[in-house]
Amino acid sequence: MSQYALRPDVTAFIARTQPLRIGGGYVEARETLDVINPSDGSALARVACAGSAEVDLAVIAATKAFDTGPWRSMTAHDRGRILWRLADLIEERAEVFGQLDALDNGKPMAVARDVDAIWSARHFRYFAGWPDKIEGAVIPVSTPDRLNYTRIEPVGVCGLITPWNYPLLMAAWKLAPCLAAGNTVVLKPSEETPLSVLYLADLALEAGLPEGVLNVIPGLGSDAGAALASHMGVAKVGFTGSTATGRAIVTASAGNLKKLSLELGGKAANIIFADADLERAIPGAFWANFGNNGQSCTAGSRLYVHDSVYDVVTEGLCKMADALRIGPGLDDPGYDLGPVISERQMRMILGHVDRAQAQGAQVLAGGARAGDKGWFIRPTVLSASDGMDIAREEVFGPVLSVLRFSDEADVLARANASDYGLAAGLWSQDVSRVRRMADRLHAGTVWVNCWGETDAASPFGGVKQSGYGREMGKDAIALYSQTKSVWVA
Ligand code: NAD
Repeated sequence: MSQYALRPDVTAFIARTQPLRIGGGYVEARETLDVINPSDGSALARVACAGSAEVDLAVIAATKAFDTGPWRSMTAHDRGRILWRLADLIEERAEVFGQLDALDNGKPMAVARDVDAIWSARHFRYFAGWPDKIEGAVIPVSTPDRLNYTRIEPVGVCGLITPWNYPLLMAAWKLAPCLAAGNTVVLKPSEETPLSVLYLADLALEAGLPEGVLNVIPGLGSDAGAALASHMGVAKVGFTGSTATGRAIVTASAGNLKKLSLELGGKAANIIFADADLERAIPGAFWANFGNNGQSCTAGSRLYVHDSVYDVVTEGLCKMADALRIGPGLDDPGYDLGPVISERQMRMILGHVDRAQAQGAQVLAGGARAGDKGWFIRPTVLSASDGMDIAREEVFGPVLSVLRFSDEADVLARANASDYGLAAGLWSQDVSRVRRMADRLHAGTVWVNCWGETDAASPFGGVKQSGYGREMGKDAIALYSQTKSVWVA
């Protein structure tokens, strides 16, 4: 029984078939999409589902807003004020965003509100400070009597494609720098979780964002997503999702040689050395993987544990796994985790666990579905080895593989033997080791004696098949800008 009362505005929002947001208005689509509640499998809401015709409409609106709308000609100061106002509105309506994401994604309400929504507001606030700091330069060229200067300009219409694991936050990560740099946007949220981003589009208008600057079009990846990625009117695609889809987007982008930034999958190695402070390392490593129900691209799903502390660490992890309370995100504030996103994901994750066992992995905790309503999985701890699929493939669910090691050089080589390179971490008190390992781990982010820290000001992104480009910080402004060189005689 839900202990959170659904807000009347949330009830009204989900009761209405939500139209696309194009050109500052509501636009129906030929198709609709049922949004499923992962906590019980019921139909939660219905939204308009864009196809290629609607993608065209949205790109036309974004192009018009870019070419002739007030967004580009407005002062940088005013652009910043609008983004700041949007940050304030997100914070004011954090409860609405929390309820929408808790229903739609299933995550606990407190997380959806206090992490996803509040961090989204912070993200907009950080990037609201950027527009009037995007500076070109005067270049001391050697040609006499010539003035050469650079302008840092927006790239144009950006297609942003986002996943379902942090529906609002992943959109905020892209939108805030993209808008701060002066671009206009067609945003296609995941078909699994379109609600909070549709609500955000309304809030953006309320904050003063001119019509057509932000267009939001839910739709299927294979249809609207593919049409956006190949659209000749889109100058750049910013994508977060799986590596397989990232590859499809690279191919689709070739027509007009779009700029791309890709935040893709991961299989992060997390290493507990013998000298680690286990009081911190055990819960740290636990939440490194099970935070957001393992549905994070940075999940520390390969946990290497030194032989000498292996038993105490696995025992601690299993105790935590067994004690976790799981349930619908909007029911009991005491629930630690919600369901996984869909029946398909649940079956895929349990398939990974079955295959791991067939390959010799041992289930130390969990290993099965919880209940028969909704897509819940018991937090699962496996004793595994490097050759198994479970230790190489991204599972994107509450499954942790624990592996033994005894030697630093060996564990470094094993940690780096992955196609992915989004994040890595280690737990150790030895400063020299920390330096050596942080230098040599192949990853876009390395966490030492902590996990999962991100900040709007600090660059984030992957190496190898985890993608390219760095979101956040000044790197994100560069991702959505291009430099023009002007010569004046
Ligand atoms: P996904 O790749 O299936 O979908 C992501 C988005 O891409 C969705 O909006 C989807 O509709 C769209 N899409 C699907 N096919 C497309 C196509 N052919 N062309 C264009 N768009 C298409 O991923 P998902 O299942 O939604 O998300 C989970 C994956 O995202 C995981 O692999 C995870 O590691 C990754 N992820 C990465 C990061 C990161 O920052 N690196 C963050 C979150 C999630």
